Amino acid sequence: MTHRFKHPETQATRGAADLEKRNGPLATPIYQTSTFEVTDNDEQLRVTGSDNYYTRYGNPTNTAAEKTVAELEGVDAALTFSSGMGAITTAIMALLKSGDHIVAQRDIYGGTHKFLSQWLPNFGVETSFVDTTDYEQYARAIRPNTKLLYLESPTNPTLRVVDFKKMAALAKQHGLLSMIDSTFGTPINQRPAEFGIDLIMHSGTKYFGGHSDLICGVVAGRAELMGKILAARTTLGNCMDPHAAWLLLRGLKTLAVRVQRHNENAARVAQFLSAHAKVRSVHYPFLKHHSEYEVARRQMGGGGGMVTFEVEGTGEDARRVSEALRMFTLAPSLGGVESLVCIPVLTSHLVVPQQERKRMGVTEQMIRLSVGIENAEDLISDLEQALQAVSAAKAVPVG
Ligand SMILES: *Cc1c(COP(=O)(O)O)cnc(C)c1O
Repeated sequence: MTHRFKHPETQATRGAADLEKRNGPLATPIYQTSTFEVTDNDEQLRVTGSDNYYTRYGNPTNTAAEKTVAELEGVDAALTFSSGMGAITTAIMALLKSGDHIVAQRDIYGGTHKFLSQWLPNFGVETSFVDTTDYEQYARAIRPNTKLLYLESPTNPTLRVVDFKKMAALAKQHGLLSMIDSTFGTPINQRPAEFGIDLIMHSGTKYFGGHSDLICGVVAGRAELMGKILAARTTLGNCMDPHAAWLLLRGLKTLAVRVQRHNENAARVAQFLSAHAKVRSVHYPFLKHHSEYEVARRQMGGGGGMVTFEVEGTGEDARRVSEALRMFTLAPSLGGVESLVCIPVLTSHLVVPQQERKRMGVTEQMIRLSVGIENAEDLISDLEQALQAVSAAKAVPVG
């Protein structure tokens, strides 16, 4: 695929739009159809496998969204799915077979962890989980039958950052495919393909859609890999509905401006929390004391919209703060224009055993914020009033 535009704001807004068209609709129409009419059977044979054949194979509205994401990630092609989980499971099923082995970060999305640890073994595919930034552990876990290096960055909810360059080099050295869940990063803040990562996945439900009103997923990468994934999607059947594709396209048009505002607001919220006496720690990639600050600065254009912090006191204090917030709505999910709050041990990590949570660095005092695009001062005032719910205060504020 040729990439026409250099800047992400232009790619997101005009990526799939045909600038040559005249007197056509400016907005991409929703091809709300399951099938496509042909003039004769020769044409029928020609359209098989195209986006003008049958919507499980493809649909022009979906194609427009897919081309925009490919443009944004700087890769050959992208494919849409009915959910982020659909994107992950289909890509892995497409590229691996019984007897293959995966090396994955321990610290990944709960649904992905479940798929790798509980479902894939039934199909003869094993996964070794390693500590997110212990690069020697990755190397040690690689076996002769290892096929895939599975990554996620920044991670949920601890916002650890994985070094793309190191991971791409490791994959290359051992002839492995590398795949990353880049949902928290977005292509506005990071483009893993530029560092040599093979497949980039997004839960489009989050920042791509941006308005908490659709469920979808995307995988992007080289044409040869995407061809295999398309064949699997057609068979497994978890394609995206054209109406959802239209919402995705609409969301993508404002991705760059939204993410920029998320970045700015989250950075301010993280600064505010770092100086607060009732806050024990703050996790945000662009805070100087973040353990991977240097890596984050090297590979990310912005720190993203997610901020996680731990309050002084107990899990009960964290629950009280989350319920005292008025601007931050108590709900799972992330990436929408409205600010959300959740307690990881009561949502995404509810079913993760305590010992495993500890290894991931997920605590009961932890609160995860999806910082929206509201006014930053309003968000900070809200946090200020809600933090009064914490009884304990530490002696010296963190710098
Ligand atoms: C939400 C999410 C997913 C799963 O996406 P769905 O669209 O809910 O299926 C995967 N990875 C990350 C990082 C997510 O936040």
